[in-house]
Amino acid sequence: MMQDNLARQKGRGMLSEEKLVKKSGFYDPHREKQNLFAERMKGHASPAMLAAIKSCHSQVVKVFSEDESRSKVVSVETCGNRFCPYCQARKARREADMIAYVMGHAKNRGLKAIFLTLTIPNVSGTEASSAVDKLNKALKRLLARKAFKRVVKGAIRKIEMTYNEDTGLFHPHVHLVLFVARSYFRSKFYLHTEQFADLWAKSMRLDQVVVHVEAADKAEKELAKYAAKSSIYLSSQKVFDVFYQVLKGRQLITFSGVCKGAVKDYKADVVATDEVEQEKGIQAMGCNRDSDNDNHSEKVPFTKITTTIWNPITECYDTETREMTPFERRQFNSDNSRRFGRYWSKKLKRKRHKLV
Ligand SMILES: [Zn+2]
Repeated sequence: MMQDNLARQKGRGMLSEEKLVKKSGFYDPHREKQNLFAERMKGHASPAMLAAIKSCHSQVVKVFSEDESRSKVVSVETCGNRFCPYCQARKARREADMIAYVMGHAKNRGLKAIFLTLTIPNVSGTEASSAVDKLNKALKRLLARKAFKRVVKGAIRKIEMTYNEDTGLFHPHVHLVLFVARSYFRSKFYLHTEQFADLWAKSMRLDQVVVHVEAADKAEKELAKYAAKSSIYLSSQKVFDVFYQVLKGRQLITFSGVCKGAVKDYKADVVATDEVEQEKGIQAMGCNRDSDNDNHSEKVPFTKITTTIWNPITECYDTETREMTPFERRQFNSDNSRRFGRYWSKKLKRKRHKLV
């Protein structure tokens, strides 16, 4: 009896210890979605890709100054898969940034935006892929039409797909932002909603289609949304397989006309913003450290290094902070810090995998 009690007490002790570990790490609710995603990908990915998906966002390395007033994310491990819930969020943020830049560029040129949503009839899972092919071809035909070409200076188009659980049907559609001169609205070439619908129907070679002309200020927000929502495409294996086959490897967002040049300019700038992006990436992981920055006028040197690693047993992130060695200190504070950071993170990753 005594021993039983002891064992029970010990058991309780162990439990509370486990809880303590959970509390000291970061719990990440997105991890469950990630595990589900890995499960759904089993039939589609190579063993190497599956391993990358499972370890996506499982290792973050950050450096700090002594007083922690200055910090920098050195690396975040990512898988880069379009359907990965973590990477999707990261990619969407970058895309939203790019869209805002392009829209600002067009505005500075005195252009006005028109925002259209073009739809086609709903399709079953087996028809979805060919429907998106048709949609793409029709879009090209539409933009090549005389009525469009004489007024449109630039365009952004984005393909999206939704799924209706009740009907079991898929709904591919296109968001289209057209940039026109200010004078267009008073010109004889002005197009009414019915004319847009008519042109889209002709391009789709269908009798009837639905076109929505929406408020231009909604365009940026709508375009920046995900091409497909993970909560929908992860809902079942069958639905996932359709989304995967339809959207895999497809270019979903296309810039044309004046927007094309703006994208080039944006990409040239993107390297500079990379670090900011990485920081946002970590915050999305649930690691909400105090707002960090690297914009101090007085550059206090980095002296500490923190690794944040996902522990599948305790289901939270374990963090470890230590002082840098003199060698690390020299490297992380040099112009070579980015390259050294990548090298350092790779080395840590290899070490971790050996241990597992
Ligand atoms: Zn990923």
